[in-house]
Amino acid sequence: KEIVVSGIRSTGYLHLGNYFGAIRNYIRMQETFNCYFFVADWHSLTTHPDPKDLRSNVFRVLAENIASGLDPEKVALYVQSDIPEIAELYLLLNMLAYKGELERVPTFKDKVRLQPENVNAGLLTYPVLMSADILIHRAVKVPVGKDQEQHLEMACHYAQRFNSRYGELFPEPVAFNFGDNLVKIPSLDGEGKMSKSENQMATLYLSDSDELIRKKLSKAKTDSGPAEPGAPMSDSISNLFLLMEQVSTPEVIKHFRDTYENQSIRYGDMKKQLGDDMVNFIAPIREKALALQHDQTYLNRIMKEGAEKARESAAQTLQQARKLIGIHYY
Ligand code: ATP
Repeated sequence: KEIVVSGIRSTGYLHLGNYFGAIRNYIRMQETFNCYFFVADWHSLTTHPDPKDLRSNVFRVLAENIASGLDPEKVALYVQSDIPEIAELYLLLNMLAYKGELERVPTFKDKVRLQPENVNAGLLTYPVLMSADILIHRAVKVPVGKDQEQHLEMACHYAQRFNSRYGELFPEPVAFNFGDNLVKIPSLDGEGKMSKSENQMATLYLSDSDELIRKKLSKAKTDSGPAEPGAPMSDSISNLFLLMEQVSTPEVIKHFRDTYENQSIRYGDMKKQLGDDMVNFIAPIREKALALQHDQTYLNRIMKEGAEKARESAAQTLQQARKLIGIHYY
């Protein structure tokens, strides 16, 4: 079975981008691949979260993954900080990562702009830790959204560098999505992507109430009317169609595409329909997650079992990495 790894940071509430970029793939892959999915709690420390928030975020990310359909019996579902082998591999890979290339990573530059008072080394070496997350299980496929594409290329570089310096150990992982292209779920204000930690009124969360989902959609950006036939659709309207394609039936999508084409579309109607379909999609996940989130006994058991599975695989890789590097003295 091919090995798959992917993680979600414990930085807040999960949203549609996390679902359609990552979790939807997890659910499909769990049937046929050897899957390692984790809550990336170390990664979330770059923004110095309050310890209480960190804890509740970790439990929520676990609960929301399971509520979305992830089956902990079929995959290793664990928390990153339970696997010390990842930290050691991160240290080893740091010796193969160069400051200049890390400084050129666009997401690092964004963070420098967003949090100039806290440009810590963890932010700079984020792609190295992410590479360690993946390479520790020698994964070949990594289901992620479009925003992670470049980090994945870096994981390939580190794998290549390690292999050519010390000997073949790591396969080169590829970013994966069922249906070819990696997904980017845009934010409702037309600026960038939906995200856990930015622009919360323009992001639809799996925990949003029915009312809030409808409200956010009603405020979503549109344009002043359909373009002339043949002219390109504006970004804000194609974003609404993109969301519709995730949750509505083919008949509904066709209806609104047709009315757009013949310029009789009413954006208010489209948003209302999208609101109904979105509520039908999100509400069952929200309710399930809410029930699970407070079942600490169950979630603790899942975490422990997941960590055991993940450590077994991680320890094997680390042992070989140490040996190839020359760290074996006894
Ligand atoms: P933060 O706001 O804290 O940066 P995030 O919402 O960007 O968090 P991550 O934890 O960094 O989420 O990413 C988890 C997974 O969700 C990754 O595979 C990422 O590619 C995917 N993802 C995040 N946002 C989107 C989006 N808008 N569209 C598609 N995929 C996304």
